[in-house]
Amino acid sequence: MTSQNRRFPGAARRVVLTASASALLAACVTSAPMDKKAAAPPAHGGFGVDTAGMNTAVAPGDNFYRYVNGTWLEQTEIPADRSSYGMFTKVAEEASRRTRALIEEAASTNAPAGSEVRKLGDLFASYMDEAGIEAKGLAPIQPELGRIAAITTRKELSAALGDTLRADVDALNTGDVTTDRLFGLWVTEDMNDPSRYAAYLLQGGLGLPDRDYYLVDNARFTEVRQKYQQHIAAMLSLAGIPDAEARAKRIFELEREIARVHWNQVDTQDVAKVNNPWPRSELAKRAPGLDWDAYLEAAGLGKQQELIIWQPSALTGISKLVGSEPVETWKDYLAFHALERGAPFLTKAFVDENFAFTGRVLTGTQQLRERWKRGVDVTGAAMSEAIGRLYVEKYFPPEAKAEADKMVRNIVKAFGQRIDALAWMSPETKARAKEKLGTLQVGIGHPAKWRDYSGLEIVRGDAYGNAERASRFEYQRNLARLGKPVDRSEWFMPPQLVNALNSPQQNSIIFPAAILQPPFFDPNAEPAVNYGAIGTVIGHEIVHSFDDVGAQFDARGKLANWWTKEDAEKFKAAGEALVAQYNTYRPLPDLAVNGELTLGENIADIAGVAIALDGYRMSLGGKPAPVLEGFSGEQRFFLGFGQMWRNKYREPFLRRILMTDGHSPGEYRVATVRNIDAWYQAFGATPGQTLYLTPEQRVRIW
Ligand SMILES: [Zn+2]
Repeated sequence: MTSQNRRFPGAARRVVLTASASALLAACVTSAPMDKKAAAPPAHGGFGVDTAGMNTAVAPGDNFYRYVNGTWLEQTEIPADRSSYGMFTKVAEEASRRTRALIEEAASTNAPAGSEVRKLGDLFASYMDEAGIEAKGLAPIQPELGRIAAITTRKELSAALGDTLRADVDALNTGDVTTDRLFGLWVTEDMNDPSRYAAYLLQGGLGLPDRDYYLVDNARFTEVRQKYQQHIAAMLSLAGIPDAEARAKRIFELEREIARVHWNQVDTQDVAKVNNPWPRSELAKRAPGLDWDAYLEAAGLGKQQELIIWQPSALTGISKLVGSEPVETWKDYLAFHALERGAPFLTKAFVDENFAFTGRVLTGTQQLRERWKRGVDVTGAAMSEAIGRLYVEKYFPPEAKAEADKMVRNIVKAFGQRIDALAWMSPETKARAKEKLGTLQVGIGHPAKWRDYSGLEIVRGDAYGNAERASRFEYQRNLARLGKPVDRSEWFMPPQLVNALNSPQQNSIIFPAAILQPPFFDPNAEPAVNYGAIGTVIGHEIVHSFDDVGAQFDARGKLANWWTKEDAEKFKAAGEALVAQYNTYRPLPDLAVNGELTLGENIADIAGVAIALDGYRMSLGGKPAPVLEGFSGEQRFFLGFGQMWRNKYREPFLRRILMTDGHSPGEYRVATVRNIDAWYQAFGATPGQTLYLTPEQRVRIW
């Protein structure tokens, strides 16, 4: 119910992996790791490479991913309570185990009422009290259902829709662009004037992950649609609402109409199309149907003079449906979504029905995660930085920060040298690029100041109410920023999350404490694998400031062109070559990687590897790297990169991320080594081998 607790990842563009995927991972501690090698110490060699997981019978030039991970792929089973499994999952498990311990410690102490620690403990304990939740039955959600049932006019309907608005999207930082509420609000720097905050409104309203789930005709989606309709009916029935099947059909058809006006993922990521400031006074004229006065007033935006409309035709289309479709259908729609969002905090029957569809059908996950794992997730969603504060105190030593700092400095410096050396770019554009690199802000471990949760009321024994209050609290925190000076030190990811992020408007990069741990990063380890793993993540995030989207923002974070015409054309042509390269990858028989949707991530991967390698060479200070277990320093660098992205997916989840995620699946992220000259030198890939590209075919962007 809280903003971080959405079910469907959008096309996460600037994070190193899908934010919601990592949020799910962070909450999924598995007590019995299915990675069989984890049980056999030492899983990794002394230098950070899992040599036992390799398959050296595969030629690196044919399939580097299999060469590096072949045995691991054969021997690893995806745990029943997961939709995918890989190295990030393992690291997240450790972070999550630690988070659980911190929360349980909070729950066990007699901290003063109103303190953060007490709130954390109470939140977790309330969620864990299954007997109490069971005894309450429908009571917690009854007031909400009652308010919906009392709606009689379109004005009241509009107000009810406005009351559900949350700040639950973030189009450019975490890249979450989906919400099952009518619209999603994003409060962040104005892309036309980064010195102030703007209110962005994004399309929403769908229960399924993407418009294509409603509109594409094939057996797989027909089945999902049937099961979704059955699921809607089941949820209504559980709430005692009569004629559930007929209502479910109408709700589904309404959502399909919403899907028809939705923008696709590629257009949604196109910053040239989404920058549409509308005066508040024009909304009723340009997007009739919804009673905008009632909607905005109920949403707490009554005084907002301007909104930036991300997808204007979708907003217009959705607003029109509010005016044209029967109020009764909209009321059913509101009731269903209230139940769906509330399900995790209601009785077991709701929890199970919710999982049967959103878990089993949509991601292929076989088994619901244990209750405590979900409890960690729920608590983290409500008070992420309160946990982060405890996490950092206990698990993020100053040495780790210092060593990570040093790596970042090396890699930023390497990128600067690379810009200087670019053959295709004019001195004019180079100077602008260097200026932008010079203003890049780096956050390591945790934010400088923490969010204040003193205004959040947590009631022990009220799991549903706590989630609802946390959701409104987070919304109010966002509303309160409108009209205030911009806080450029803000973080968009908590320290306990295993992920990393670039914010194009802040021109900043963020590395939470939890990703700065083995095997990605070990401050005491030999540097080759550190640079191949966390170093390439650091490089990846730096390069996001210069990918197809990032490059459209200037050194201040304003959407403004700083490129000469010729340079912009060359940059675009290199990007097109990369789109074509990724379009050839076909993870499912009927579904290829979308080269356009994943372009920004793929640029960040290629150049991220290139500059991390430069940074590694710089770290050697002119001395030769040692050969360890037969591997040279640069070989170990690439092995570290290839093992970081090992991942297995269940088919429904893989399908979903191919359609909605800005990242390519792990195997194809690893395949980007074919664009790097040094990889050919390290592994001797030759013409005729599958990955081989001639020097002219290799895509070189930065
Ligand atoms: Zn990224």
